[in-house]
Amino acid sequence: MFKGLTVLLMIVLEPIGYVRNACQESQAPEAIKKEISEIEILPGYAEGLRGIEQCEFLDMVFAFHQEKRTELQTRLRTGETTGVFASRSPRRPNHLGVTTVKLLGREGNILRVGGADALDGSPVVDIKYCDTSVLEWWSVHDSIRMSSPRVDIVGNIMAGDTRVLLLKAAQLHGHVCPGLALGVMGAVKVMQKVITSGEDIRDYTLFSGMQNCPIDGALFVTGCTPGTNRFVMGSPGNDCFYVMNKAGKGWKVTLKDTNREYIQRHLSDGLSPVARGLAVLDMDFDELLILEPVEEKQ
Ligand SMILES: [Zn+2]
Repeated sequence: MFKGLTVLLMIVLEPIGYVRNACQESQAPEAIKKEISEIEILPGYAEGLRGIEQCEFLDMVFAFHQEKRTELQTRLRTGETTGVFASRSPRRPNHLGVTTVKLLGREGNILRVGGADALDGSPVVDIKYCDTSVLEWWSVHDSIRMSSPRVDIVGNIMAGDTRVLLLKAAQLHGHVCPGLALGVMGAVKVMQKVITSGEDIRDYTLFSGMQNCPIDGALFVTGCTPGTNRFVMGSPGNDCFYVMNKAGKGWKVTLKDTNREYIQRHLSDGLSPVARGLAVLDMDFDELLILEPVEEKQ
């Protein structure tokens, strides 16, 4: 009908409000989501909030106001490269974000929400009642997990959820213990560095210099397994592991030789191994482990 005719349409969006929270700078969405945010609706739109208290979950549409770049292909944090429309990257045409948030309360024209991954000052262009019926028909999240099984683990790593990762790693290891916690802590730091540098963790191999509990934590968190041919058992008894790429660049994690004493000193008596493992996660990283970059395979 309109063959050969290109219709250029410009859409002008006007903010209906702004996000307020403590996150001024770009960071992992999981970290921002942990904050409680306020959405301040402009007085001219406040009438539109009538009845919103009934909505437990809302979809918030906002502008990535600090993002100017557009990339039609994007590197996911799990390593794969996909088109922007198969990702949640902010570097997208129109720079719009859509996030489901939980409504925690309303005071006048201010909504208090949890789970928003918008930076402080983000202009909000729409809010709507969240319709999850499609999720009831299909298990959408399962289909994401099928194509990218480590997506949740990567989310836990970037959010620094070592407790969740310890419990998941224990499903592989068989029990929760301080050693497993040390492996998880060290590997989380390494993974955060690899992921934020934009590199693909699948180019990395785990070289183990030990044969006990921590290595299972590192193996689970990095996903470097014998089955993917990315795990090499080195000489045991060195109390360290390396995560390195083919060029021999990467990270070395060493268990400090004083870590046992330090843990012992900071644990109350009579705790179960599970409680000890969980308690280690809250201890000072630098008293337990040494993280250092390596330039060449050692
Ligand atoms: Zn163990």
